[in-house]
Amino acid sequence: MKLVFATHNLNKLKEVKEMVPEGIEILSLSDINCTEEIEETGATLEENARIKVTYVKDHYGYDCFSDDSGLEIDSLNGAPGVYSARYAGEDKNNDNNIKKVWKNLKDKENKSGQFRTIIAADIKGKRSLFEGIIRGTLIDEKRGEGGFGYDPIFVPTGHSKTFAELEKKVKNTISHRAKAFIFFIKDLNSAI
Ligand code: IMP
Repeated sequence: MKLVFATHNLNKLKEVKEMVPEGIEILSLSDINCTEEIEETGATLEENARIKVTYVKDHYGYDCFSDDSGLEIDSLNGAPGVYSARYAGEDKNNDNNIKKVWKNLKDKENKSGQFRTIIAADIKGKRSLFEGIIRGTLIDEKRGEGGFGYDPIFVPTGHSKTFAELEKKVKNTISHRAKAFIFFIKDLNSAI
């Protein structure tokens, strides 16, 4: 069975290829010659994940899945959420995004939040959604060199290191994305 993972991110692609059961061939957007940017115009992670899957299904006919993630801060009513990548502007600058989090959290007592991933899938005519969440605390300094995005200021609950300080292997076991993919792969196993 061929399945398209609606991403251009080669790291994500490689990780998922290693997780899927035998007999499933994962294709990227480049593999199906989908070079256009699929506009993520949804107001929620669920909508954005669904938009990518529907686009691929409608234009290319493949069964497909996609993921969308964001940082949701409790005292900011879930912001930046679906706008995490471009919180401080369209240039998607990580440093500026972090500075904006600090500014908005300055007077808040509650610094807790979560990363959340949604995976949307459309496989053999069945549409499904899978969710992965990791809770944690936002700190007011950057710690660690690894990871990306908000990793240097996010300390997952039960740990003392930030996502950027934790070993990649550890982050990739406990993360929101890992959890969502475990649910998705479990469902895929029962579908074949
Ligand atoms: P995406 O849907 O995986 O592309 O994530 C959207 C945005 O959410 C990223 O550009 C980051 O700003 C933020 N984000 C998602 N996952 C993570 C993570 O694991 N660490 C840090 N930031 C993340």
